Amino acid sequence: MLITGDQLLAVANDHNFAIPAFNIAEYNMFNAIMEICEQKQAPFIAQIHPNEINLLTFDIVQAMRSRIHRSPLPVIIHWDHGASHSQIAAAIQGGFTSVMIDKSMEPFDVNVEITRRVVDTAHAVNVSVEGELGTIGSMDHATTGDGIVYTDPSDALTFVEETGVDSLAIAIGTRHGIYPAGVTPRLDLDRLRRIKEAVGIPLVLHGGSNNPDDEIAEAARSGVNKINISSDLKSAYHNALRNVLRDESLYEPDAIQPPAMNALKDVVAHKLDLLGTTGKAELYRQPASREIDLFGLVGQTLTV
Ligand SMILES: [Zn+2]
Repeated sequence: MLITGDQLLAVANDHNFAIPAFNIAEYNMFNAIMEICEQKQAPFIAQIHPNEINLLTFDIVQAMRSRIHRSPLPVIIHWDHGASHSQIAAAIQGGFTSVMIDKSMEPFDVNVEITRRVVDTAHAVNVSVEGELGTIGSMDHATTGDGIVYTDPSDALTFVEETGVDSLAIAIGTRHGIYPAGVTPRLDLDRLRRIKEAVGIPLVLHGGSNNPDDEIAEAARSGVNKINISSDLKSAYHNALRNVLRDESLYEPDAIQPPAMNALKDVVAHKLDLLGTTGKAELYRQPASREIDLFGLVGQTLTV
């Protein structure tokens, strides 16, 4: 069941749990995630970054849409870290049902202006928008400081009111990538609760790999409704592949891929339990109105 980001996150917001956004780097990863999420009855977000679509091409989106349409599981296809209005338009045309515009490195006013323009375009075709305020750190900054600019709660409220975003990515202490030995991320959960109280809309945590489980679980109970998980999945998948490929006699994909897919499924199952997403698909078993209505035409009488 392909739905919009707004529909998916509204239920998580109402019931106080988080939905994982798993970055898809190739089709077998997507297949493995679909299978384990169906087994766990867990809604999820199939997320693709522009760097990943460069590798996969937009053709994969049609295959994913087809697979999701024949599943009872609520799933969205989300464009991760969109860079510009024109790139977002391409993503929408390419079949994404949810998009992120990330202008968090720009001054506040520029971020507001571009994000609002994206919201106007996306909402016209019933696609939801995630914005970002504050700067999520990167492991690239590990030697020069954490690179994080923490999100201010009152700025967040102004940003949400002026842009009309459906969800907001915030900076509370996570960083993209895998933390090196000796670096322990600390999440500012008090700040998270203050932002949530101010804005009320679903909040998003980027850089959700490799953080202590108890902090991530607490964030999921404190107002975060979408948690991005990329590095943990890719490392599990590719480490398993590396291991399998030590046997140089193997060359058939059906001998090589399944152990990597199983390693991925184990990580996904753990994340679903941690975030409280397991079993939540039943909350979405509503009338057919939950099915995506891309142009807002369901139930309307068309006159020509
Ligand atoms: Zn991110």
